[in-house]
Amino acid sequence: MLPALDPQALIESNYQDFLTDLSKSTFSGDVEYSYASRLAVSTDNSIYQKLPQAVVFPKSIEDLSLIGKTANPYIDVKFSARGGGTGTNGQSLTSGIIVDVSRHMNQVLEVNVEQKWARVQAGVVKDQLNDVLKPLGFFFAPDLSTSSRATIGGMISTDASGQGSLVYGKTSDHILGLRSVMADGTVLNTAPMMLDDAKKLSQKYTPIAKITQQLLDTCLGKRQQILDKFPRLNRFLTGYDLEHPLNEELTTLDISRVITGSEGSLVFVAEATVNITPIARFKALVNVKYNSFESALRHAPSMVAANATSVETVDSNVLNLAKQDIIWHSVESLITEVKGKTVLGLNMVEYNSNDQVDIEQKIATLSSNLDAAENLGVIGYQITYDKADIQKIYAMRKKSVGILGKTKGPKKPIAFVEDTAVPPENLADFIMEFRTLLDGHGLKYGMFGHVDAGVLHVRPALDMCDPEQEAMVPEISDQVVALVAKYGGLMWGEHGKGYRSEYGPQFFGKALFAELRKIKTVFDPHNKMNPGKICTPLESNDSLVTVSDQKRGEFDRQIPIEVRQSFEPVMSCNGNGLCFNYDTSSPMCPSFKITGDRRHSPKGRAGMVREWLRLLSNQNIDINALEHNEDPPSWFERLRNSTNKRVDNDFSHEVLEVMEGCLACKACSNQCPVSVDVPGFRSRFLSMYYQRYMRPAKDHLVGNIEKMAPLMAKAPGLINFFLRQSWVNTAIRKTIGYIDTPILSQPTLGQRLNSHPAMQFDLVALQQLSPVQLAKKVCIVQDPFTSFYDAQVVESLVTLITKLGFEAVLLPFMPNGKPQHVKGFLKEFAKTAKTAADFLNQLDDLALPLIGVDPSMVLCYRDEYAKVLGAGRGEFKVQLVHEWLLQLELPNVTQSKNQGNSQNYALFGHCSEKTALPTSEKQWQQIFQKTGLTLSAVSVGCCGMAGTFGHEASHIEESTGIYQLSWQQAVSQYQPEQIVATGYSCRSQVARFEHFKPKHPLQVLAESL
Ligand SMILES: Cc1cc2nc3c(=O)[nH]c(=O)nc-3n(C[C@H](O)[C@H](O)[C@H](O)COP(=O)(O)OP(=O)(O)OC[C@H]3O[C@@H](n4cnc5c(N)ncnc54)[C@H](O)[C@@H]3O)c2cc1C
Ligand code: SF4
Ligand code: SF4
Repeated sequence: MLPALDPQALIESNYQDFLTDLSKSTFSGDVEYSYASRLAVSTDNSIYQKLPQAVVFPKSIEDLSLIGKTANPYIDVKFSARGGGTGTNGQSLTSGIIVDVSRHMNQVLEVNVEQKWARVQAGVVKDQLNDVLKPLGFFFAPDLSTSSRATIGGMISTDASGQGSLVYGKTSDHILGLRSVMADGTVLNTAPMMLDDAKKLSQKYTPIAKITQQLLDTCLGKRQQILDKFPRLNRFLTGYDLEHPLNEELTTLDISRVITGSEGSLVFVAEATVNITPIARFKALVNVKYNSFESALRHAPSMVAANATSVETVDSNVLNLAKQDIIWHSVESLITEVKGKTVLGLNMVEYNSNDQVDIEQKIATLSSNLDAAENLGVIGYQITYDKADIQKIYAMRKKSVGILGKTKGPKKPIAFVEDTAVPPENLADFIMEFRTLLDGHGLKYGMFGHVDAGVLHVRPALDMCDPEQEAMVPEISDQVVALVAKYGGLMWGEHGKGYRSEYGPQFFGKALFAELRKIKTVFDPHNKMNPGKICTPLESNDSLVTVSDQKRGEFDRQIPIEVRQSFEPVMSCNGNGLCFNYDTSSPMCPSFKITGDRRHSPKGRAGMVREWLRLLSNQNIDINALEHNEDPPSWFERLRNSTNKRVDNDFSHEVLEVMEGCLACKACSNQCPVSVDVPGFRSRFLSMYYQRYMRPAKDHLVGNIEKMAPLMAKAPGLINFFLRQSWVNTAIRKTIGYIDTPILSQPTLGQRLNSHPAMQFDLVALQQLSPVQLAKKVCIVQDPFTSFYDAQVVESLVTLITKLGFEAVLLPFMPNGKPQHVKGFLKEFAKTAKTAADFLNQLDDLALPLIGVDPSMVLCYRDEYAKVLGAGRGEFKVQLVHEWLLQLELPNVTQSKNQGNSQNYALFGHCSEKTALPTSEKQWQQIFQKTGLTLSAVSVGCCGMAGTFGHEASHIEESTGIYQLSWQQAVSQYQPEQIVATGYSCRSQVARFEHFKPKHPLQVLAESL
């Protein structure tokens, strides 16, 4: 039986005392110290793992100040600020307290277009800011691949930059002022000041005076030493930037410049005033294809010299993996194959201008150079001026790191030498030597980067569960440090130092490293702010973190290899944070979007289950045997365990809580770059959890819905009569926890089709038909939701099929099993799936088209059936309506009797469908176009219903909130008759909130043809 799992991770007493004091103060934010909350922030995108004592979520600068002040009596209480948690080198990890500013401090406070600045809280996500600025014609220029989830506070603290940095600079180039909080709670306002004023200020006895004095001593006093020491690179140095607090003329001093890139080791950044840049009116992107990666690298500097705004590169490994990703469909026409050649390197060259003639001239010059560059390895190029297409190419490039994670097998690309920078003219030679170094270790890797700035991203593939391979990390790090030094570069060209801080003394040299420590001392004398990162205060004996510190692999390897293989999606999450995407019109991940709680994300859920498997493994539980337990505990034992739930310290309850919040929408299964399929492992967890504990009634209701619906549909009038009574609804809510129970279709499907030939299903008769007769037949695979609750859609499908000259055959209703899978009734699901597959295979043998209406049900036949039945699934194919229609010659309605339907329809796609079949919306548009109708695809995320999730009383707030995030506003833009939606859930959710039910697009076709 599943045992109770006590993680034994007590909070240290000084931290407990501090947290008690904090909760007694006027602190208005959240304080979380559950094991799950701590785990959720124990990793980032790095190879490291560190469990903090607690997580606090301040709501204001006053809260940040209270944290510092309350901690003053507790010298040993340490903090690490955290934003999006996308650091690649453990920058935000700590064994102290995580101060997460992203949950509440995420408002764009002010935008001043005339003076070209914006004031934001530190937890604002970079794309969020740009979405506010875009309609005003501006953007926040420093770009980074994680722009959909990295925060401005994180960007400031790592001095983030990326594509286009030669022109658009780094974050530090755009900071006009900061409001920060020091370790002792002092609020610090910083902006450039005249040097004379700085000198006067430094005479005072305030904290800012001491800081000013130190910066004058170091930055002014040691200026020549600083200039002599460091390479003059675009990426220069972070943590701490000793050169740029002073301007070139030495007339101003800016304390903000030393805070940028300080990785939270000096202050908590609360607010920033940043300058904003006008968006260029014209853009062009040229995708240049090469016969080798080396050719791409060697050719890049000439394009930089020709004034390109940016030059990005990717190698063939990245390209090939991208081709297997969902994202490829959006860019394949922009990066086509070259006939008879293989593209082994790609440069993406961007030009920006406010003058169309100027940009066209630049492109013309580049084109003629490229036409003559065959000897330089250029094998083709494509130009696009379309801004949306350019965005798609960059989205692919931004996903490169995630895409690399798709690498099959236990060796996964990891970050530790992933952002080296060398002078661009040395890049090609450097990379050749870097490759030799990695090849010498027998490692696989993919490479891409900002060739214009000399920054290379490379993630060697290692199995961190293997201690021998883990030992290669410090060895290779040392070698790369030496290699970058040889080429005049630096190891941390973009992502900051984090656990690589141990190389700080070597890089800065003894004297200048001592200056760093002096700066740390004036900000944070007790080493409370992100201790171990960058440097320690002058008098401190504390150590720096090192690349050999405790890694995630040390935890992961405690799980037996066969369990790791079986739970591959759980293990392969690499924390890149794509599932934290802030964009409400993106399907990923609705539960995180609405809760703002990182536990309730694919990353959070994968992390919980990983730890759950580890704790089980440490109790010597055979997880495979547990999962397939033929002799589960008795009802009585489960009742007893459930009764004792409150007193048991069982981590499984925390895992259950995060699994319950999942809508099982499957956006993660397809949009996560490494396909972390939460619904898959969620159902496995639920099936094991409920071996130990009693299931709630609502699970049984959902699990049996496919058995009950056909029975209820026998007396719809009676059932609906009761369902319309408020007392019945109240009783259902109170006993089962179910709300807004759907009303059965009246007339039922049977009544609607009554004596229609489609109702005469006879398998034997079908088997006796000739191929010509069979070619006329189209079988409709029923699903419980459409057939029993939206019967008019199935009736319309019969009409459509008939109008198109085919004979519809309504297959007898056969449970699909999806609701059982969602609730983790896995044994029952396997049986249901087997019965349905056997039946459908008989029809497939006749080569009959099988079509189903509801996307999530049809997709279940493809994905979950394949997983549970393996080869036993057989070869049957159930198509969605649009997949079938796409192959047909369709009549044009403008020539038919319904001529004059000039309606512009708006398609609200189902999120599971859009993510599993990314071309589905485009295909519906093609179908409508063929028939002479107009359909536009509306960009929305999840509707919040997701099967039965939105009907569960415990989820009504989330369900409503998710609907409001993107659907409500989008729906209000159209007339009800314009809106079409493919998902039964989506149509029901609109009906619930808007009191009209959109049609399925097939209904429009059936009516129009
Ligand atoms: C797939 C991938 C691609 C990436 N590509 C790029 C890229 O193109 N360019 C680039 O520059 N980086 C890149 N990074 C690195 C990372 O995204 C950046 O460093 C980013 O700026 C971190 O922002 P965050 O909000 O996630 O910060 P976190 O990871 O949460 O924190 C980063 C550091 O900032 C500190 N910090 C965060 N908020 C505050 C605050 N309010 N006050 C004080 N300190 C704070 C933390 O303590 C920590 O030291 C990439 C990372 C990944 C996973
Ligand atoms: S679940 Fe996927 S998208 Fe989210 S952090 Fe993990 S790998 Fe990245
Ligand atoms: S299935 Fe949907 S709600 Fe659940 S984790 Fe994945 S994206 Fe989030």
